[in-house]
Amino acid sequence: MLESLGWNSARQAEFEPFQRLGQVPGRVCLEHNHVFRLMTAAGELLAEVAGRVKYAATGRRDLPAVGDWVAVKVDPSGSRATITAILPRRTSFSRKAAGRETEEQVIAANVDVVLLVFGLDKPENPRAVERYLVVARRSGATPVIVLNKADLQPDPGALAQAVATITDVSGGAPVHAVSARGHDGAVALEPYLAPGVTLALLGPSGVGKSSLVNRLIGADLLQTGDVRDWDQRGRHTSVHRQLVVRPLGGLIVDTPGMRELQLWDSDEQLDETFAGIVALAADCRFRDCQHDREPGCAVKAAVDAGTLPEDRYAHYLQLRGEHAATEKLRDARALQDEKRRARVQGKALKAMQKSRDR
Ligand code: GDP
Ligand code: ZN
Repeated sequence: MLESLGWNSARQAEFEPFQRLGQVPGRVCLEHNHVFRLMTAAGELLAEVAGRVKYAATGRRDLPAVGDWVAVKVDPSGSRATITAILPRRTSFSRKAAGRETEEQVIAANVDVVLLVFGLDKPENPRAVERYLVVARRSGATPVIVLNKADLQPDPGALAQAVATITDVSGGAPVHAVSARGHDGAVALEPYLAPGVTLALLGPSGVGKSSLVNRLIGADLLQTGDVRDWDQRGRHTSVHRQLVVRPLGGLIVDTPGMRELQLWDSDEQLDETFAGIVALAADCRFRDCQHDREPGCAVKAAVDAGTLPEDRYAHYLQLRGEHAATEKLRDARALQDEKRRARVQGKALKAMQKSRDR
């Protein structure tokens, strides 16, 4: 049962200390006003975060997110449940929390495969694909590129051309042309939804992500996924989960937050996406060449020679600039956290000394 939610032996090993305390594992499928809906071996339950966990948190990133595995202490009466710990995240999608510039908020954790969805109703855009690949690689999830609305491209030659253009920049990620409208349009994506595998969809709005989710979950099953619960006043309310278990196997993350992702990328991921530029850079005269105005720059030389497309180079510089800006915010945040920790520790030390002096 837990396996179908993504549980495995590595998780079990991590959980051992909590098991000894009589706690149970749960996976977050919805957050609502600081109350978390968890899927456990014994069914769903609502839980709050232990005060100790909240106090130790240096930011929202240290609080549970949809997809997280957590340790839960269930009150003997079964009426109260408390989240005592978050198990290590294998992957995470985050964005800058609204209002607090430097704060990172995790909006989906432990996603295994991310479908990067684009629409074939518009001309294919390799630069956009590159940007999304950066986000995917940063998260740790395995990217798969989906070109949806294939039904709108009846010319097989043009379709093959679009797939080839995107495959050129996919850095090894598979590329599928599908149609959420067609009869068996999403069949090519089925193999990615093995039991226990968590999948998320990411891409510009209007490309057909919701349609694909409906398709993969099954239109009629989506209604039963919208399970009815009783609220405190005894009314029926519809509860929409943000992590849905698919009866045919696999789990799908469907949070509105995935749509407003901002880049929290790192140099490493940039390099992987722009592997060609990195390979060229080996021939730059200076080790720390910024490929900007340095003499003997092999990257600039390739642009001048026309072997490296100008727009690809410009896009590289632009992404690198955005990355530097987010890094700066992160450093500022880390410094704040460090100061706060030092303050808390200092206070604790003083209190200890005081009690000893007495
Ligand atoms: P989202 O914003 O990415 O979630 O996109 P939606 O799923 O809401 O789809 C946007 C529009 O595209 C809707 O009008 C869909 O009916 C339409 N659409 C989605 N998938 C397909 C497809 O495979 N083919 C065609 N022709 N239209 C599609
Ligand atoms: Zn250079």
